[in-house]
Amino acid sequence: MIKNIKIRVRPEVWCDAQKLESELAQQNAISPKSLRGYRILHSSIDARQRQVMIQLDLDVYINEEPPQTLFEPKEYREVKGDRQAVVVGLGPGGLFAALKLIELGIRPIVIERGRNVSDRRRDVAQITRRQEVDPESNFCFGEGGAGAFSDGKLFTRSKKRGNVSGVLERLCQFGADTGILDAAHPHIGTDRLPAVIANIRNEILRCGGEIHYETVVNRLLLKGSQVVGVGTNRGEEFLGPVILATGHSARDVYRMLYSEHIPIEKKGLAMGVRLEHPQQLIDQIQYHNKAGRGPYLPAAAYSFVAQCNQRGVYSFCMCPGGVVVPSATGPQQVVVNGMSASARASRWANAAMVVEIRPEDMGELLSEGICEELPTCTFLDAMGETLTADSPLVAMALQENIERNSWLNGGQKQVAPAQRMLDFVKGRLSADLPATSYTPGVLASPLHFWLPRFISTRLRSGFDVFGHSAHGFLTNDAVLIAAETRTSSPVRIPRDRDSLCHPVIAGLYPCGEGAGFAGGIVSAAMDGERCAEALASQCSCRE
Ligand SMILES: Cc1cc2nc3c(=O)[nH]c(=O)nc-3n(C[C@H](O)[C@H](O)[C@H](O)COP(=O)(O)OP(=O)(O)OC[C@H]3O[C@@H](n4cnc5c(N)ncnc54)[C@H](O)[C@@H]3O)c2cc1C
Repeated sequence: MIKNIKIRVRPEVWCDAQKLESELAQQNAISPKSLRGYRILHSSIDARQRQVMIQLDLDVYINEEPPQTLFEPKEYREVKGDRQAVVVGLGPGGLFAALKLIELGIRPIVIERGRNVSDRRRDVAQITRRQEVDPESNFCFGEGGAGAFSDGKLFTRSKKRGNVSGVLERLCQFGADTGILDAAHPHIGTDRLPAVIANIRNEILRCGGEIHYETVVNRLLLKGSQVVGVGTNRGEEFLGPVILATGHSARDVYRMLYSEHIPIEKKGLAMGVRLEHPQQLIDQIQYHNKAGRGPYLPAAAYSFVAQCNQRGVYSFCMCPGGVVVPSATGPQQVVVNGMSASARASRWANAAMVVEIRPEDMGELLSEGICEELPTCTFLDAMGETLTADSPLVAMALQENIERNSWLNGGQKQVAPAQRMLDFVKGRLSADLPATSYTPGVLASPLHFWLPRFISTRLRSGFDVFGHSAHGFLTNDAVLIAAETRTSSPVRIPRDRDSLCHPVIAGLYPCGEGAGFAGGIVSAAMDGERCAEALASQCSCRE
């Protein structure tokens, strides 16, 4: 018999399988002999009270053996010589689109500008050593996409947009720990993600898919208003309908679409800074315990949101026990983000702290001034246009502006401008800075002064609110590191709601975060699957 049980246990019981079994038996009047095992369906931490408890939802097996496997692995069959389609970008969107195409009998031809995930590891390490970013292989570009060196958080709110557990099961099939199947906030960790990505790639290749690394798609091949393939910087052409999964940082792709007069739209986004606290302080605050988290609890996370002057200010992409990383994709930019290893064991806790910027806010932000030699402006100048608040590229120009200011104020390398948290709120330059996890280094800078007022004033109000709701959070032991600008796509590439195809260009499937239809690893993966299904159901793929 299988009995579903919901139970609250102390952390030390949660971490010990034997103790958990005897507690299950005791609390539910099950004889220990008949209890053959259990399967955790969902686990979450309840830290609202001084005694932190773990809430578990389990299936308990009484006089019946539990199943050997937690999920059914999928079998992918060879598609060599079958119909083919082009997938641009090998981030989560592209990886899952390619897998789904194979499942549907279509051979994926994948084009990826960056290197494979193991060579890419060396390229990201070089950013700190050389203080330079390889524009084709970095924290955003390369096999695995922007999520390859990340916290690997797999939590998503877009549950209606696809099969979340299906994506998690596929990740397990390719090597992720099955613990992600039951955690309330699952994560994989940057030390484990690359192996999972490599396993997915090997499966794509085994099934007859092609992957072309270090190859940049720089044009769409059009027959009238139909995409029939792509052209690359190597002069090659690849034919088939196109899933465009190029992520939020492929600015050249947005410029290419704009110059080809393929409709794209202005989109809101959120920008701000990365905030880093000592992890111990966050543990003390969140677990209500001066001693911190103790031996059984994981590094604590937080989530804050407030409305400040009619716009949301919120924490995002929180990395407990993580590090802040340089995630620029080109020269003269300083951009930060966060990642952590599976153990989440670093001394620091970091999160993006960002302000919501709506499409109608662009005029106000533009009026704060924008540097003229920014790539978007020069690009528009070359097209005989000037940047306006209505341009589809306006949010991208604002991102570039902040990233360039960050570079100028950080000493024109990958050293990032930074300010202690309380100093920022009080509007004073920090005399010194605490140690941080950001390895290229930090330089004291008045962020309150040079960040756009639209952002800085709201961040200051937000920090006040957060400091009131979590005593000790607003502190000079925490540091703000600039700039956090790549939270989502600055542009939307439109698509039809049902067919998922671009409304004007047939055969073009804008996909994932770069198209503005996903945010995060799981939602991008689900979107990749949906685009592949839509393509398979509509397109006459090339034989
Ligand atoms: C440091 C960091 C940490 C993150 N942490 C998390 C996290 O913990 N959890 C989470 O859910 N999300 C996280 N994110 C966000 C997450 O990575 C993205 O939401 C997700 O990767 C988007 O997937 P995607 O496939 O749409 O695009 P991307 O992952 O951006 O992939 C796009 C791919 O397209 C390639 N490409 C771009 N242009 C071209 C071209 N012209 N030709 C060929 N190839 C091209 C790029 O090289 C890239 O590999 C993090 C992001 C970063 C940068």
